[in-house]
Amino acid sequence: EERLVIMDETAIRRALTRIAHEIVEKNKGIENCIIVGIRTRGIYLANRVAERIAEIEGKPVPVTELDITGYRDDRLPEGKAGREPQSTGLSPLSVKDKIIILFDDVLYTGRTIRAAMDALMDCGRPQSIQLAALVDRGHRELPIRPDFVGKNVPTSRQEQIEVSLHEIDDSDEVIIIHQ
Ligand code: 5GP
Ligand code: MG
Repeated sequence: EERLVIMDETAIRRALTRIAHEIVEKNKGIENCIIVGIRTRGIYLANRVAERIAEIEGKPVPVTELDITGYRDDRLPEGKAGREPQSTGLSPLSVKDKIIILFDDVLYTGRTIRAAMDALMDCGRPQSIQLAALVDRGHRELPIRPDFVGKNVPTSRQEQIEVSLHEIDDSDEVIIIHQ
């Protein structure tokens, strides 16, 4: 097994600072924006970026979390996929006409994001949905692309990305693992 550090603490910090600026620039501020972190590590990334945005804009941006385990189409027994409401801080009113910025740690096939969009659409009608990921490792199986990316990391399907964040792990680090 081969382990290679592809982002250290500094690289992660700089990537998140850049993404915070890109979000503010793309949306000409943060009016009507909500950042939605996808469990587990997406939530910590969402919180970090929201902190940066608050520093840049001088006002807070709402953050909430989404657990889409019950919506995944390929991780549940046949016929069981989807439609089980998951823990979410989102109500129809909180989604209506909002710009939702989804944040996940690693983007792979795109199925998690599709499921997240299903969950959001079940809640209400957002103005738009944007996507941010710390790492895009490729291999999309759906027409989904991120608006904001920390690092593009071309991988083989055999490789794994390990994301460590100090909130729950002992360091800030992204590692590529080659079996
Ligand atoms: P997808 O649904 O796009 O296939 O996979 C994305 C989801 O699975 C994300 O929530 C992400 O956390 C997890 N994931 C997929 N591939 C990897 C990987 O190589 N490393 C890590 N840490 N998570 C992954
Ligand atoms: Mg995940």
